[in-house]
Amino acid sequence: MNLYNLAKQFPSEEHALAHLMKVRWPGGITCLYCGHDKCWLTESKNKSGKPRRVFQCAKCKMQFSATTGTLFHDSHLPLTKWFAAIALMAEAKKGISAAQLGRHIGMTYKTAWYVCHRIREAMREIDPEPLGGKGKTVEVDESFVGGTESGKGRGWTTQSAKVRVLGIAERGGRVHLQSVSSLKNEEIKPILDAKIDPETEKIATDGATRYLALIPAEKHERGNHAKEKKTGKPISNQTIEGAFSLFKRGLIGQYHQLSSWHLDRYLGEFCWRFNRRGMQPWIFGMTLNNMVCRRPLPYKKLIEF
Ligand SMILES: [Zn+2]
Repeated sequence: MNLYNLAKQFPSEEHALAHLMKVRWPGGITCLYCGHDKCWLTESKNKSGKPRRVFQCAKCKMQFSATTGTLFHDSHLPLTKWFAAIALMAEAKKGISAAQLGRHIGMTYKTAWYVCHRIREAMREIDPEPLGGKGKTVEVDESFVGGTESGKGRGWTTQSAKVRVLGIAERGGRVHLQSVSSLKNEEIKPILDAKIDPETEKIATDGATRYLALIPAEKHERGNHAKEKKTGKPISNQTIEGAFSLFKRGLIGQYHQLSSWHLDRYLGEFCWRFNRRGMQPWIFGMTLNNMVCRRPLPYKKLIEF
């Protein structure tokens, strides 16, 4: 959803709250603590003195708000700003930096950073279907990302400062990217086993010999870039290479100081959006749904590493 339509659909905080409640309680409000379906609306004030809408359960008397226990938990930011942030992140094909998001919506870098991470948490795939399947081809490849060291100028990189990322893609379909500490068989094999459907017909890799021990010979489609270029045949790892290059272009443009600890969260966000290309009109709704269904992400948890 673009910002114009968003502002039309949710012109005020009231509209945004009504929508959020509909998403959270499609069958009508129920108590978060005992499940009772009679709750009274009471107006109270938050720490900064602003009015806060709180519900009180008629049975257990516990109080809660529409955002209690969700990824919006404890946020003082208006919902209309949250909705704008979700829309911007859902639309940004290559990602959007916290600094840019903060400038667009009007919030400090620190707030924007935290907002981005909470939305990213909503964009994390949980137990996705394995990639591939009967009659399908899956591509496997790896790449280095990140690695700009501060104080040495942009573009100054060392291999050791970069993080190795393993990529698996259904040809023409979904992708999975995750950081790995090495390309040793004992690290890669469990990932391939978990992420690739055993019925997959072909598994394509580049010419590297490291995959010979990991992929059964009858399924293995080993590419040769130089030969493919010469004969004009399409590159065998087109989908996964496309995903890597899109992620890196976003990385270069947006995240100059990406920490390797957070890399998997950024990769998760990227895959979530990439795997929903063509579903653009629904991405905002899907993200919002996860924002209210998933548990809070405390700030402390993000900075503790
Ligand atoms: Zn109750």
